Amino acid sequence: MPPVDTFRPEKGRVVSRSDVPTRYKWDLTAICQTPAEWQAAYAQLDASIEAFKKYQGTLAQGGERLLSAFRSMDEMGALSYRVWYYASLQHDEDQRNNENNARRQQVQILFARQQQASSWFNPELLEIPLETVRLWLSQHAELAVYRFAIESLFHEQEHVLDAEGERLLSYAGRLNSVSYDSYSALTTADMRFPSITLADGDEVVLTYGQYRALLETNRHQADRATAYRAFHTIYADNQNTYASLYNGVLQRDWFHARARGYSSTLEAALHGNNIPTSVVENLIQVTRQGVEPLRRYHRLRRRTLGLDSYKLFDVFVPLVEHDARYPYDEVGEWIVQSVAPLGRDYQKQVRTAFEGGWIDVYENAGKRSGAYSAPVYGSHPYMLLNYNETLDAVFTLAHEMGHSIHTLLSHQAQPFVYAGYTIFVAEVPSTLSEALFLDFMLERAKTREERAVLLQHAIDSITSTFYTQVMFADFELQAHRLVEDDQPITADALNGIYSGLLRDYYGDVIDHEDLSRVTWARIPHFFSTPYYVYQYATCFASTARIMQDVRSTEAPARSAAVERYLALLRAGGSDYPMALLSRAGVDLSQPHTVSAVAAELDVLVARLERELGAA
Ligand SMILES: [Zn+2]
Repeated sequence: MPPVDTFRPEKGRVVSRSDVPTRYKWDLTAICQTPAEWQAAYAQLDASIEAFKKYQGTLAQGGERLLSAFRSMDEMGALSYRVWYYASLQHDEDQRNNENNARRQQVQILFARQQQASSWFNPELLEIPLETVRLWLSQHAELAVYRFAIESLFHEQEHVLDAEGERLLSYAGRLNSVSYDSYSALTTADMRFPSITLADGDEVVLTYGQYRALLETNRHQADRATAYRAFHTIYADNQNTYASLYNGVLQRDWFHARARGYSSTLEAALHGNNIPTSVVENLIQVTRQGVEPLRRYHRLRRRTLGLDSYKLFDVFVPLVEHDARYPYDEVGEWIVQSVAPLGRDYQKQVRTAFEGGWIDVYENAGKRSGAYSAPVYGSHPYMLLNYNETLDAVFTLAHEMGHSIHTLLSHQAQPFVYAGYTIFVAEVPSTLSEALFLDFMLERAKTREERAVLLQHAIDSITSTFYTQVMFADFELQAHRLVEDDQPITADALNGIYSGLLRDYYGDVIDHEDLSRVTWARIPHFFSTPYYVYQYATCFASTARIMQDVRSTEAPARSAAVERYLALLRAGGSDYPMALLSRAGVDLSQPHTVSAVAAELDVLVARLERELGAA
């Protein structure tokens, strides 16, 4: 007999939060027992922000004083996690609730004050000669905990200008976001979404969501073509404006790189994380050499879908119709079993996550959309889902669980100052968790259809998270280099780069469509955060590399790999990401690390060919 408080969502019906049984909702009392306790924590944070001011102008007094300032900062930091997440998670439960929203905004105001009250700290520390600070580090064992934090601050300092230079740069700061703000206005507030008529006579307004859904589900090629062309025409019609805005981004990046004495925009972007530019260059070069499995997949898709012409609007439709549902009450146990290769302790932690009120499972009226894992220091990670029983939803759960266990282990093992981790490693545990789950599901799948659906899911995540992101990084690098070489940036120039990329990556497996060359104009990341997306690809390659050893048939190699991997999770942000990854056996400057992805893709595509009887 199922438990009495079992609940499953009904398609198309959104329930109110009170209708969802408690065991499918997160339990925020692990952060604060009551709203009154939260008020008290808030007041305490407020007071410690005030108290922190007393350190200003005193850091040079010695190691003892510096240690005490660092500790106060840690206390403030740890407290901010609780104060922020209690308010913010509660807000996400039902964003229509004004009281929660007010509480959340109250914290944001406090954070702004905290920022102001501690903004003097780094500049003042940097005034002290590094040799002096190193001497203190050698004299105070407790201060030595902060060695990496201090050294990396001084590392960034290498490109900080004198006071006059920094003052001028700070004036330019206000111009930094103008291009992206304009892009944002043009693509949201001022956007006129086109309306199209489908083959069955239905009218559809092509918002971003509708457009995406149509390409993923509509089995009628003519409809997909209509949608694709209408959508890209908006960008083509304004391509000179988009090119001009992107030129603003490129010129800004080159201005800052030169002002701070970097030899290129790429070097400037990677310096903070201490990543050599060869990592991105290697990533692009090796991926370009490894496009054959990608093409093999698209040839298989063209054959399976039975299309005479195969275009970019045909790459998202599922190859197999499949409407299996995955009830939440069943998948929890599967996820626990799927991480068995990582050991019993790891499994136990995943079980605790399911049983301990860490997860907010179902959609309800007013709840925030999407999914995330929130790293609540001093409590435990929390996960927000909008679980709808699809295969995507199960993989999302596996993904967020990977983030959460990473957070848990890092918080347990590290002092506060290194408890957080950078994006450069963050997507390794999440994608690795998905990879383990895929292995588990393939093992237990009973029908060819089920296996084909799983394989396509895995392949699509490689093409979209790896190949597409590398292609984007390739685009960004080429565009920035035009500016660095004093070349003009026009719509023609950018269209030229993009069509060249499509040719280089896809060859002749995707038929030419003229409008595809303006695709760069609809990628918000290019305008908001240059040189960011490559990190999805490097994380993916790192995971592929680690999984090669985790799947090894030799027990000693396997357990050594698992140990190294768990050490990576426990290391948090205690060192530069390249150093952390290299201890986990991943060297991203090596071609074979990157080519692990192409090798994995080839295996998956070959398997899919067999399942579809197309080999
Ligand atoms: Zn993620």
